[in-house]
Amino acid sequence: MDLPIYLDYAATTPVDPQVAHLLIQHLSRGGVFGNPSSATHPFGQAAARAVEAARVRVATLLNADPHEIIWTSGATEANNLALQGALRICAHQGRHLITSKTEHKAVLDVCRRLERDGCVIAYLDPDPNGLIPPDRVAAALRPDTVLVSLMHVNNETGVVQDIATIGQITRQRGILLHVDAAQSAGKLPLDLQTLPVDLLSLSAHKLYGPKGIGALYVRQRPHRVRLEPLLYGGGQERGLRAGTLPTHQIVAMGKACRIASENMAVEQARIRALRDRLWYALAALGDVLLNGHPDDNVAGILNLSFTGIAAEALLTAIPEIAVSTGSACTSAGNEPSHVLRAMGCDAVRARGAVRFSLGRFTTAEEIEYTAQRVSAAIHRLRKLSPLWELRQRGLDQRVVDWAAVP
Ligand SMILES: *Cc1c(COP(=O)(O)O)cnc(C)c1O
Repeated sequence: MDLPIYLDYAATTPVDPQVAHLLIQHLSRGGVFGNPSSATHPFGQAAARAVEAARVRVATLLNADPHEIIWTSGATEANNLALQGALRICAHQGRHLITSKTEHKAVLDVCRRLERDGCVIAYLDPDPNGLIPPDRVAAALRPDTVLVSLMHVNNETGVVQDIATIGQITRQRGILLHVDAAQSAGKLPLDLQTLPVDLLSLSAHKLYGPKGIGALYVRQRPHRVRLEPLLYGGGQERGLRAGTLPTHQIVAMGKACRIASENMAVEQARIRALRDRLWYALAALGDVLLNGHPDDNVAGILNLSFTGIAAEALLTAIPEIAVSTGSACTSAGNEPSHVLRAMGCDAVRARGAVRFSLGRFTTAEEIEYTAQRVSAAIHRLRKLSPLWELRQRGLDQRVVDWAAVP
């Protein structure tokens, strides 16, 4: 087993070796390096064929039509295109958007920008377990609502939203539903023939593809979703996203999606078993709180607060294990996680939250090692922690009170 151990797959994944191999074949002379828009010669034609084959693979992962896939630079751009694009083109119908307080910053920051443009945004509260009840979405709908945007799997807690039920509500009312699926694609089955979702964001680097490439699914049937583009230029992607297509990135994302399609069920079962082993081992420490939903969760994420221990103290104590406090994007700032705060966690619990995220290359040995090292660190830190000391005394006091009752 190699150290350090990587348990931060929710922040990004290493590129699968098969994907990296294919990527390199689409870069240099002798490989498929042409501009896919150069339709007049074999270099461009080969690149265009490679791009379209990759589009089929991404569409297959979603059971969608290849025409419904628009390449972007990642899920951040896909979210921007979905939200800004839909609100701008629907401005005459209304300017009301519904989202939740537990979204990724790549949705929340877009919402802030739209508010400055005069849009009105409803930010829904989740239940304490992180779920957004579909009837809360229904209750927030207004005659001028044009879009609902909710993530499928939360990147901090792994909670899975009921997008099928929420989609039935929006579909009935003729309102668009956008889903940020960066954390669910390749991990949970997605069937857009049956799911009433209109726009869906993907990111390759969360599913063993490279950084800097993603896609937006834009529904064409039974109704065609229209968007105002963010970028203007060469008219690529049916005018929705100008810019020379990065063939190597696209081909790599296609391969990553194909591997995910083929291995998803087996891989997720294996990861879930490892994750549960880690959870049982750490829960045995006592006073460990699970941040998230006990059942409606994705296999690879385990978000825990160890009572009495700040997350930074634990991370410092286990330098050879790469985990994250909150999400990678917000841990740069020293704010407690907005997701956990929205779920009603107090500031101490939110600041104590540590996210373990497992993936394709996580081994049983790594999980055993992590369980042992974290357990030892928690024992040691709790001995030193004034918070823990107080709590233990508090508990002792209650036992004394109880024993004194005649
Ligand atoms: C990682 C992530 C993003 C951002 O994706 P990029 O491709 O890095 O722009 C957006 N939403 C969620 C839920 C994510 O996990």
